[in-house]
Amino acid sequence: SQQLDELDASVTQRVQDHPCYSEEAHKYFARMHVAVAPACNIQCNYCNRKYDCSNESRPGVVSEVLTAAQAVKKTLAVAAAIPQMSVLGIAGPGDALANPERTFETFAGLSERAPDLKLCLSTNGLMLPQYVDKIADYHVDHVTITINCIDPDIGAQIYPWIFWNHRRVTGREASEILISQQQKGLEMLVARGILVKVNSVMIPGINDQHLKEVSRVVRAKGAFLHNVMPLISDPVHGTHFGLTGQRGPTQQELKALQDECAGDMNMMRHCQQCRADAVGMLGEDRGAEFTLEKVEAMQ
Ligand code: SF4
Ligand code: SF4
Repeated sequence: SQQLDELDASVTQRVQDHPCYSEEAHKYFARMHVAVAPACNIQCNYCNRKYDCSNESRPGVVSEVLTAAQAVKKTLAVAAAIPQMSVLGIAGPGDALANPERTFETFAGLSERAPDLKLCLSTNGLMLPQYVDKIADYHVDHVTITINCIDPDIGAQIYPWIFWNHRRVTGREASEILISQQQKGLEMLVARGILVKVNSVMIPGINDQHLKEVSRVVRAKGAFLHNVMPLISDPVHGTHFGLTGQRGPTQQELKALQDECAGDMNMMRHCQQCRADAVGMLGEDRGAEFTLEKVEAMQ
């Protein structure tokens, strides 16, 4: 329809200078993540908490956690040193919305001192409905929600618990709540015109077949991109990763599922699953040049 074409054109326009979404842009623009979000409010079976959140991150060394003031300082220093810097994201090492004070203080500081930076955040979605208005207030450009399932029976095999209303909820009930919050959050963001990308971690034997259905549903609700990422095997302990020792997919399994989920949008194949403190052009990580110690020394 005419309306859909216009929507596509405006989304295309909004992502074309975004290094994470446009194959072209990622040659010319840089992005950084600031690690201001140490806590998480759910447990994923594949997360062992020694690493950054798999929302957007690759297992490796834990990020240096920053206060909001430190994050603002670091961002300004990096933006001064790397003129192509166009996007600032909060992607862990835990969940951006499980650390709302630091996340929104960082956004507040940056919207004042670096108003041209595009802001983004990634989340497991549990607290999304509560914070959608705040996210809109800071003109956050896009939100990534990690949605691994829409079926609570599958969810029960991925999430042993969530922390909800001051208590720990386990089993199928935990996944029911998480899934309903994620879907509600997705709808609310789309209704406010905020771009939504959905990430899914492909876990062979658990959600691999189901992710096609997830893809259909989130696209129908208006997510502009569905990014299927592999469960990353533990580089130290062999091919199995996480609490229950699931294996990661092979390259062929991953590509086959990505092809099935891609539809007409395959821009995300170059996602690097960057660390929560990644800095620089996509595919490079200059984070080590901008540790807090070095940033303090630059002032
Ligand atoms: Fe770990 Fe991220 Fe899952 Fe939280 S949402 S348990 S940080 S993978
Ligand atoms: Fe972009 Fe993916 Fe890296 Fe995030 S993890 S900055 S979406 S390439």
